Amino acid sequence: VAGDEKELRAPICCILGHVDAGKTKLLDCIRGTNVQGREAGGITQQIGATYLPAENIRDRTSLKAETAIKVPGLLVIDTPGHESFSKMRSRGLSMCDIAVVVVDITKGLEKQTVESLHLLRCHNVSFIVALNKVDRLYGWKECTNAPIVEALKKQSDDVKSEYKWRLTKVVTEFKENGFNTAPYYENNKKKKVVNIVPTSAESGEGVPDLLLLLVRWLPDIITDKLAYDDTIECTVLEVNEHKDLGTTVDVVLINGVLRQGDQVIVCTKQGAYKHHKEVRAAQGVKIVARGLQYAMAGTSLIVVKPGDDLRQAEAAAMQEIDMAISTTDENEKGTTTQEVSSIMTCKEGIYVQASSVGTLEAIIAHLKSSSVDIPVYDWNLGPVYKQDVMKASAMLKRKEEYAVILAFDVKVMPEASALAAESGLKIITADTVYRLVNIYTEHIKGLKE
Ligand code: GDP
Ligand code: MG
Repeated sequence: VAGDEKELRAPICCILGHVDAGKTKLLDCIRGTNVQGREAGGITQQIGATYLPAENIRDRTSLKAETAIKVPGLLVIDTPGHESFSKMRSRGLSMCDIAVVVVDITKGLEKQTVESLHLLRCHNVSFIVALNKVDRLYGWKECTNAPIVEALKKQSDDVKSEYKWRLTKVVTEFKENGFNTAPYYENNKKKKVVNIVPTSAESGEGVPDLLLLLVRWLPDIITDKLAYDDTIECTVLEVNEHKDLGTTVDVVLINGVLRQGDQVIVCTKQGAYKHHKEVRAAQGVKIVARGLQYAMAGTSLIVVKPGDDLRQAEAAAMQEIDMAISTTDENEKGTTTQEVSSIMTCKEGIYVQASSVGTLEAIIAHLKSSSVDIPVYDWNLGPVYKQDVMKASAMLKRKEEYAVILAFDVKVMPEASALAAESGLKIITADTVYRLVNIYTEHIKGLKE
């Protein structure tokens, strides 16, 4: 670290936008071009996140070797792979230092773009717009991986004028949603006016510009937020079933260092769960431990150091659990926990099991919608265990049509299937929410006939 400058951590960035805008492709482009060539270039595609070292980013841009990059790298949360991410609790989104909102230049702002903007505003996360698919402009001359201003200069007048009116249209649409935006190369109020970076995830134009904004401009405006701190800050991204490891949680380490053997506490629906376990230091980490199947995505992972007050740490976890379960983020309309908790109070209803809070919320929102209107008795996260079958079986005596577990994107344990078969409880699994509900309605019809 030069002079008395503060040591900075890697900024955390997530990618949001409407389906098909090019989120996955853009992430691939950011990652892929790096991976090509020399020995994978130190890129670690981590669990649910991609870590790009600063030197790699330098290679992708025109930055001279002597120009400093103050951050060690960039951590991109693999939101395309985490479809539920946008629905995660405030912590999930708030851990991001910046978001990239991908907009298809040929389509402008779409429904999920506007939803993303709403979420970002709620959680007070700044963003950059990647105005993607510029190569789709009719007659676009490909300039692979070129900075966008350079690429634009090489285009015909027709392309330039199409670009201009489409850009103007998008700026107007942002304005209608309450955001001032400008192409970053003309934006001299970068702090106040949202930057637009035209990109092509296909041929890479504008991608160097985007990376530069993230590692050069961003650290300058949020230096304090990026100051490295020893205090561990860690968020659970996903709870997964791994065929060899069992249940694991993927976490994002925002600050501090995790060491193997650290004692960790995770928030679960059943309360704080603690265990001594293997934890390998990195930025996106997979943690293996018993009991993790109950961990809740979007909540904190708390590390207990020798000398720490364990009780206090557990109390902090419990507080967060209470918050996650019983309160709704005031700013966030509609979806979240209040619905979950109000549904929990139903004495008669079905049992829902999902892989993450986000997917659970999506299912419950769908079940509650007027066209479907199916009450929920209880819910759980992670694989379906015997206990879940036992709980759900309460409906066998009360209302047989509700004696069902809708299991979305989770494993059903063999003992659970066996018990369900024995007692007459139906477990329905499907890969989309709609199919899940359709199978259930068919099942009801079958019962009635
Ligand atoms: P996502 O749903 O936002 O993750 O979108 P994808 O990354 O899956 O992209 C949707 C489709 O658009 C795919 O067929 C991509 O190949 C294509 N696509 C994405 N970005 C670009 C781009 O910059 N240029 C062109 N021509 N196609 C793109
Ligand atoms: Mg995608």
